[in-house]
Amino acid sequence: MSISVKNLSKHYDKQKAVDAINFEAKPGRILGFLGPNGAGKSTTMRMLTGYLEPTAGEIEISGKNILSQAIDAKRHIGYLPENTPLYSDMYVKEFLSFIGDAYNLPNLSVRVEEVIKKVGLTPEQHKKIGMLSKGYRQRVGLAQAIIHNPDVLILDEPTSGLDPNQLVDIRALIKELGKDKTVVISTHIMQEVEAICDDIIIISKGKIVANNSLEGIKKAHQNSSLEDIFRKLTA
Ligand code: ADP
Repeated sequence: MSISVKNLSKHYDKQKAVDAINFEAKPGRILGFLGPNGAGKSTTMRMLTGYLEPTAGEIEISGKNILSQAIDAKRHIGYLPENTPLYSDMYVKEFLSFIGDAYNLPNLSVRVEEVIKKVGLTPEQHKKIGMLSKGYRQRVGLAQAIIHNPDVLILDEPTSGLDPNQLVDIRALIKELGKDKTVVISTHIMQEVEAICDDIIIISKGKIVANNSLEGIKKAHQNSSLEDIFRKLTA
């Protein structure tokens, strides 16, 4: 199992932002992590990536504990935060070399070429990040997330703010990248889940209210639309 979460909680004072959740995410599958605003999605993503310490519970990434084996665990994770922080004054190649260098990657220039090709950045590779469209900037974000070839990819609202064409392209790219990785996407967009996810978790008020394959959840709800199922479970 690439991601294993047991009894995970995060409390802010009295508020239980995440309340004793359990789930697993499997290789070769894309898991959609859905919930209304304030449900606990970002808090969970930030704990999965080791940026936020849980109040209680355990997280293992590829068998490594995110707290006690943090360096090993983080080596297996690629992370695209919401509003990807990128250096707009840096050139695409310069930025990716900078990130790759932080991971101490061997043959860095070859690896930078590889990821540029993989995420479809070739035509824009000589530009400054600040000159790129939002869609291409998101490709740079994905390139930095995969440069160290992690087996787990965590993407926080990866298509927010993209225009319809960029959205289709970035979803296709995520689907392609997901073939040999474990991908978790946090989103509140139902079409996104329908378009790319294999499995779905719905979180509401810090608790998991559904955990199933996309097909399974529809079957369990008499083939209702995902929107109706979501509304019913998070009301
Ligand atoms: P989502 O990503 O699903 O919108 P969040 O994980 O951001 O939800 O937030 C879950 C809950 O925890 C919300 O009620 C939010 O207000 C609260 N919360 C998040 N971060 C903090 C914080 N640093 N301090 C206090 N409360 C927080």
